[in-house]
Amino acid sequence: MKLMIRQGNLKQIIETARKSEIEICGFLFGRKKEGEAIVEKIRFITNRLNSSTGFEMEPLEMVQTIDEAEERGLEVVGIFHSHLKCPPRPSGNDLPGMMLWPVVWLIVDDNGNYRAFVLEGEKVLEVPVEIVSSITDRWQRGSKKGEC
Ligand SMILES: [Zn+2]
Repeated sequence: MKLMIRQGNLKQIIETARKSEIEICGFLFGRKKEGEAIVEKIRFITNRLNSSTGFEMEPLEMVQTIDEAEERGLEVVGIFHSHLKCPPRPSGNDLPGMMLWPVVWLIVDDNGNYRAFVLEGEKVLEVPVEIVSSITDRWQRGSKKGEC
């Protein structure tokens, strides 16, 4: 498993995390291909805990965002969130979420570090992150042509 993400998207997540006093969170949408999770679109979701030590995505926003992405043929390939003054690896609080969402978990800290993980069985495995300069973006291509 490998996570492929555009530099601009990763930068946006890191910069938003740096400016925020609470954990930020959201979805990585895209497609999965031969063991690669390819991110085509990121969407921030409100952290309803409003906390610097944990996050919970606002449920209604989650559902609406997933519906919107699915209409464009994209699936949830990952979840991202930030840690403040903590290293970017899954905390004990993250494990139940990782069980619920068996996708790649991208974690950033407020120093610009980032790492990605996936839960396999009961083991947390690190997933390499490949930063790419461009990804064919079906989301943008669709909206430019006014397609659904
Ligand atoms: Zn966490």
